[in-house]
Amino acid sequence: MRKKIALIGSTGSIGRQVINVCERYPDLFQLVAIAANTGGGLFFEQAEKLRPAFAALRAEGETPAGIPAHTRFARGEEAFEEACGYPDADVVFIAVTGFAGLKAALTAIKAKKDIALANKESLVAGGSLVMPAAERAGVRIIPVDSEHSALWQCLAFDRGAPFSKLILTASGGALRDVPLEKLSDMAAKDALAHPNWDMGAKITIDCATMLNKGFEVIEAMHLYNAPLEKIEVVMHRESIVHSMVAFADGAVLAQMSYPSMELPIQLALTYPERLPSNAAPLDLVKLSALHFSAPDPARYPCFFLALKCAERGGDMPCALNAAGEVAVQAFLHGQIKFTQIAEIIEETLGRISPRAAESYALLEDTDANARRIARSMLP
Ligand code: MG
Repeated sequence: MRKKIALIGSTGSIGRQVINVCERYPDLFQLVAIAANTGGGLFFEQAEKLRPAFAALRAEGETPAGIPAHTRFARGEEAFEEACGYPDADVVFIAVTGFAGLKAALTAIKAKKDIALANKESLVAGGSLVMPAAERAGVRIIPVDSEHSALWQCLAFDRGAPFSKLILTASGGALRDVPLEKLSDMAAKDALAHPNWDMGAKITIDCATMLNKGFEVIEAMHLYNAPLEKIEVVMHRESIVHSMVAFADGAVLAQMSYPSMELPIQLALTYPERLPSNAAPLDLVKLSALHFSAPDPARYPCFFLALKCAERGGDMPCALNAAGEVAVQAFLHGQIKFTQIAEIIEETLGRISPRAAESYALLEDTDANARRIARSMLP
């Protein structure tokens, strides 16, 4: 029996790699539904090639030519939600970026579908809704983010296993060696040139500010039920150790491989089995050394702002995410300097009164409010 997958966010970097994995193992996996926020040629090419039973675009518009006859095509919010809880799917792979992923995750859980979760915002902003809902519905949440997959592997695929510390690694991003006083001169193209990973634009900028690592700390708190003090972040420029778990006896397990998202993506679908992937064999002699150091608060203020939000909890991580999305888009469009990303986030957070994250409606309100505040600071 092939595993049936609904892929939410098929055209992005992660979505395309999910498709690679499905094409590598056509006897194991079948894409029954694909969905994306906006269309474009790639989405229709995918529909034609993959022949899913259902293809959904979130954005309203015309029904395009080129959808194969056996694929039912629909547009709009309702269609997108149908794909997120697609009745015939065994697992919903959530690969959309941004706050939109939260609704996708909650919809899949409501439909009692196991989730492979590559969207970090759904846990950052809505982890306190998503985790208990998943538990009540009895659905599995399978981590896909490379750090959280590494932790999960070190915990023998048991998110509930005991540990004494989770140690996340951070590459430091594209600007890690730029002198501090030159950071404000850096343009989007500089920050987008990540030394180790090839990813979407938003997350690549979030790596350069290390806001991404702050998000990942919050994600880890939810996925592994970990208080902030049991999570440590270390700089590791080679991106070979994807994260580590320390245990009560002092042992530390690490998961190592060359950076490739296809490994955690494939493992999310095949675990506990491990099958050949596109990952090259690790040449330790050639690597010869791995380096670790502490994050620098002067270089990475966004990371430390995220830790404050993690500590404060409630809807503050949701506000952090919203302010970050606005600031990063503005930076990508050349409206603000790199160093203003942190300033806009900090200022926005200062103007938010924290509330308990008790419902999706409240988080939607916080998200909109934080975006409004952040936008008001743009030139
Ligand atoms: Mg990651």
